[in-house]
Amino acid sequence: MKNLTFLLLVLLIFSCNKLQEYKVPVYGWLSGPRDLTDQELKDKFSDMKNKGIDGLMYQADHNPETYRRIGKIAKGAGLEFHTWIPTMKQSPNPKLKQEWYAINGKGESAYDKPAYVSYYNFLCPSREEVYQFLSELYGSIADVEEVDGIHLDYIRFPDVILARGLWDKYGLVMDREYPEYDYCYCDKCVNDFKEISGIDIKSVEDPSQVQEWKQFRYDLITNIINRLAVEIHQKGKQINAAVFPGPNSVAKKIVRQEWDKWNLDAIYPMNYNDFYLEGPEWIGDVTKEGVEATHHKIPIYSGLFICPNPENKTEENDPENHGLIPSELGTAIRASMENGAAGICLFTPGRMTDAHWVEFDKAIRINYTAK
Ligand SMILES: [Zn+2]
Repeated sequence: MKNLTFLLLVLLIFSCNKLQEYKVPVYGWLSGPRDLTDQELKDKFSDMKNKGIDGLMYQADHNPETYRRIGKIAKGAGLEFHTWIPTMKQSPNPKLKQEWYAINGKGESAYDKPAYVSYYNFLCPSREEVYQFLSELYGSIADVEEVDGIHLDYIRFPDVILARGLWDKYGLVMDREYPEYDYCYCDKCVNDFKEISGIDIKSVEDPSQVQEWKQFRYDLITNIINRLAVEIHQKGKQINAAVFPGPNSVAKKIVRQEWDKWNLDAIYPMNYNDFYLEGPEWIGDVTKEGVEATHHKIPIYSGLFICPNPENKTEENDPENHGLIPSELGTAIRASMENGAAGICLFTPGRMTDAHWVEFDKAIRINYTAK
């Protein structure tokens, strides 16, 4: 009997410890560094694991061998390993023909006249050749044993409207859709749409008023996602994506992502409040929107944009250097988790200051769902 009481006591203590050990699941977006030695990478990844990061969305090139090397080290450090590779945005390369790039409403190609910035080379989502390129790219990476999942990014059209916080940076007032930022008006897209709808979109004065034209383009992206999902799942791997917040409040409107229709294993909305001139509480609103739009069926990891130099934030004009300062991080994590997020994802662990890590450590130990 004494032994039994002792056993029950041990079990009780064990289960209490388990409760105390609760931690918010955390991922991190990470680019490079490829020039580090294996030992240096191992130390870096172990440090991240110790700080509370569970998995990486790791960005490098298109070479499967890169991911084999880095993945092995990440897995060795106890991290999940997802490969983060842009989808529709592809720098010109010998495998891609110029005519596969998207065309804006003024007839200009994203190949040699991209919108906003020189790297905005977006492909046309109608072309089967584009799909085949993507299928081969992601298929070859999913074949790497160390890869847990394929993480899609830039799986969208170019921003037809920029996030409000970026208007000053680019000197733009985007009060409506303008043709130079509106894609894709290539012959294939125009003809395919005409066949389905009977509408010649090139003869329409204001295409932004044609709901079918919007839906046609949401569906082009959705179809790519759902076809890729079948192929990646057949290889026994996960597939997930970074998306704009929403889907309805932002993502559909500005980048044509109807992500509540995507057959993914997880979704990582980039809930970067500073880009929308919003405070950290707003992250809770968009998290709730996403969780409800996907009917609580797909885990939503709330993407948090970290301010790398918190002391300079107020004097900093470039929104790319804004983001959550340490005192906002706890609010952002709480707002995400209380509104149904499955966890969070940091952009990026490398931008976190010591003060961020202190606040982070406090916030991820709270079980927000335990009521
Ligand atoms: Zn097109």
